[in-house]
Amino acid sequence: MQNGKNLKRKEKKIPHHNLDRVLFFLLLFSSSINLLHLPSHAEFDCVGASVQKFNFKFNASNAYETIKKQVNYGARYPGSLGIEKTRKLIANELQSSINWDINFQNFTKKWNEEDVKLVNIICQPPNFDVSTPNFLLMAHYDTRLWATSDPDPERRRDSVPGANDGASGVGILLELGKVLVEYGITNFRLIFFDAEDQGGILGWDWLVGSRYYVSSKDSELQDISWAILLDMVGAINATFKRERNSDMYAKVLLDQIWDEAANLNYSNYFINESWKTILDDHVPFLQAGIPAIDIIDDFSSRYNPWHTTYDNLTYIDVDTLEAVGYTLESALQKLVQSTDWMNGLTRFNYVSKFTITVVLGSIIMISLIVRSSGKDARKIGKSNKINNS
Ligand SMILES: [Zn+2]
Repeated sequence: MQNGKNLKRKEKKIPHHNLDRVLFFLLLFSSSINLLHLPSHAEFDCVGASVQKFNFKFNASNAYETIKKQVNYGARYPGSLGIEKTRKLIANELQSSINWDINFQNFTKKWNEEDVKLVNIICQPPNFDVSTPNFLLMAHYDTRLWATSDPDPERRRDSVPGANDGASGVGILLELGKVLVEYGITNFRLIFFDAEDQGGILGWDWLVGSRYYVSSKDSELQDISWAILLDMVGAINATFKRERNSDMYAKVLLDQIWDEAANLNYSNYFINESWKTILDDHVPFLQAGIPAIDIIDDFSSRYNPWHTTYDNLTYIDVDTLEAVGYTLESALQKLVQSTDWMNGLTRFNYVSKFTITVVLGSIIMISLIVRSSGKDARKIGKSNKINNS
């Protein structure tokens, strides 16, 4: 019986073997035909990629040029000539071809006894659409007054050129904003914050511009469904990890962006790995219950010129700009096409690390007090028993 079965199997295998040969020759034939179709340069670029990247509108060279212009203005700390020039650049870039509605939100803050003019720049595309859930794309455009982390102590009162920390976010957003309008997407605003990066200098705090915006634009915030912040998005070999606050309060949004990066073979930039909490311009939005994520470089494992005089153009890489630009161009188109993904995106009550620490600390303190008073009560009970006996 066993032998007979084996024989049957052998008999069945013979035609399969022939079929394999036929398939092999067919494959050889079809690949030789493919060889005749010489791929264009763009197609060579995407060998191995699941998506054909040559269809993208985002132009990383344009983003680079805008970064270069900002750096050439010199220091762009609040109240400087450089930051005034940057404001004009932002307005000119958005109004040169089509007329964006640009709202300069002015306010002042004392710095060294003097009032400093601060300006958040809120930009609405033409035909801004409030009827559909709208979103924000954000970056800070100031640079740090002092290079407080410079390796040379003598240079720690020099200004930071801010090619990556400041200019890169602005460069990408200006290009991305124009691209989205070309796709007919109009339910978003670009916001450029002043005074993000002066924390610890002459008594200033971080996030001054974004905090002011969130505290003063209550009615505008009602219509905002979600927000994406870009900060330090142009460095060579940048790595963007899942910032903890973003992951905790806007996981669905974070997943959408990181998944799209993976689809485009950019997982070497958008690392699918939990990271620490970063204090950045998305935090005031989270505190207001608005889902917001921060795309920010984790440079801890490599050379970084953060808050030094070396944060200049040599540190900026067009490939990184392209990775961020392509990922957002692709992801944002999908995010606005369907709002189903937003089911998992809800407003929430933000609980800061400070609150968690205070609450946990209080619970521990109370339980210790209760425990020790219980011990005391038992001791008194014991001594009463002894006295009574
Ligand atoms: Zn900074």
